[in-house]
Amino acid sequence: MADALRTDLFIAGEWREAADGDRFDVLDPGTEESIASVASAGADDARAAADAAAAAQPAWAAAAPRERAEVLRRAWELLIDRADDLAALITRENGKVRAEAKGEIIYAAEFFRWFSEETVRLRGEIGTAPAGTNRILVVHQPVGVAYLVTPWNFPAAMATRKIAPALAAGCAVVLKPASLTPLTALAVADVLHDAGVPPGVVNVVPGRSARTITAAVLAHERVRKLSFTGSTEVGKLLLEQAAGRVLNTSMELGGNAPFLVLADADLDAAIDGAMIAKMRHNGETCTAANRFYVEASVADEFAARLSTAMAALPMGHGLTDGNRLGPLVDAETRDKVAELVDSAVAAGATSAVGGVRPAEGPGFYYPATVLTGVAPDNPILAEEIFGPVAPIVAVADEHEAVRLANGTTMGLVAYVFTRDLAKGLRVAEALEAGMVGLNKGIVSDPAAPFGGVKESGLGREGGHEGMLDYTETKYIATDW
Ligand code: NAP
Repeated sequence: MADALRTDLFIAGEWREAADGDRFDVLDPGTEESIASVASAGADDARAAADAAAAAQPAWAAAAPRERAEVLRRAWELLIDRADDLAALITRENGKVRAEAKGEIIYAAEFFRWFSEETVRLRGEIGTAPAGTNRILVVHQPVGVAYLVTPWNFPAAMATRKIAPALAAGCAVVLKPASLTPLTALAVADVLHDAGVPPGVVNVVPGRSARTITAAVLAHERVRKLSFTGSTEVGKLLLEQAAGRVLNTSMELGGNAPFLVLADADLDAAIDGAMIAKMRHNGETCTAANRFYVEASVADEFAARLSTAMAALPMGHGLTDGNRLGPLVDAETRDKVAELVDSAVAAGATSAVGGVRPAEGPGFYYPATVLTGVAPDNPILAEEIFGPVAPIVAVADEHEAVRLANGTTMGLVAYVFTRDLAKGLRVAEALEAGMVGLNKGIVSDPAAPFGGVKESGLGREGGHEGMLDYTETKYIATDW
């Protein structure tokens, strides 16, 4: 890393203590020891950050697209240069194993590269009114100061997935990272500072009270946009608050991804896909396969092979080479996973692998777990597990699989495995989800529009759509 660990607020291009001097501890979930004490923003700091963004906004919006693009390009290069140090930082505050953390940094950096390329491609439209009376000009202008709120599960990528398109579109931002993982977000701010982002264009305000910071920023008259990634529960609260000022909102919310294995699937590919879709980042992803619907004729074989693969994952601290399953992020997350498994078993499921919480010791570990004989109405299928647990439901056919898959209020992503491409596309169209992995266990790509339907969200991040989410469309009627 270019500098020492950043632990202060980043406001107007400066590293600052909180106005009231408050700080909070960040823990290593693998050891439960404190790794740093971070400045905790209060309402005054949040307002100062919004003021700084408002002051920086006009010049940043007016900067040449190429200039904005070059800053983002340098940020990509610097993030890649610092990838090893930043990956270790992610492992220490989030728990995911080092190789996954490195993968996150590469993914996070790619948002800077992708949107540096998009910055110079923000095009409008020109047409003639149907009556022939005038021309219709359509332009996309920066929405204005954006407030970004991110979760702990991808502390780098969820920040860059918002900052990069916002900066590309010409918006200044205030970022509030999750209180469990503020260190990575502050390191990303350091990268942006070193890449030449002007003071005030990016501000980062971690804090112990998300409510206080959010209330202060959303009340600021120059803030025009709220982009949130996190739980559906908190997303709904923020939508209510945003309604008060009719803010432009983007919501990346919770998932409950179904993973369909049809009888004609290539089982090798399905197991590989399942291991990625289920186990990436300890199962703590919004895209995690949460419910496996497998056609009855292959259900036993799929369960046996998945159990073997899951049981082979070494569990331990993410910085120790060879470990593939790290600790979950905190005690609450680990306890929720344990309770979900216990209640699933009480409701008739069988734990084929795992299912037992480790004896007391430091670290919030939970073993890779496969549940078989899960009835379609088992309560675990209605919850976002957010841990390394794979419940398998045997289904009669493709139609039952789709019906059960769609039987939820969530709709972020779904997966389907079949060798019949026409059937796969038919099922993909029938699934109520913003994204579908067809014979793929991972869909995330900075060049693709990521987002959900139903209660999984509003708007898209990544792709060309990602930048449009930080613009307002203006129509100019004229003639010549
Ligand atoms: P969370 O509890 O909703 O928190 C997300 C962010 O919101 C954090 O920065 C948090 O701050 C803040 N927050 C919490 N309560 C708030 C309030 N009352 N007012 C304002 N801000 C508030 O979610 P999480 O546990 O960090 O993340 C897991 C969830 O995120 C899962 O549901 C997952 O599916 C979802 N997720 C979705 C996507 C997607 O792209 N759709 C991607 C990743 C994760 P504190 O940390 O200070 O509480």
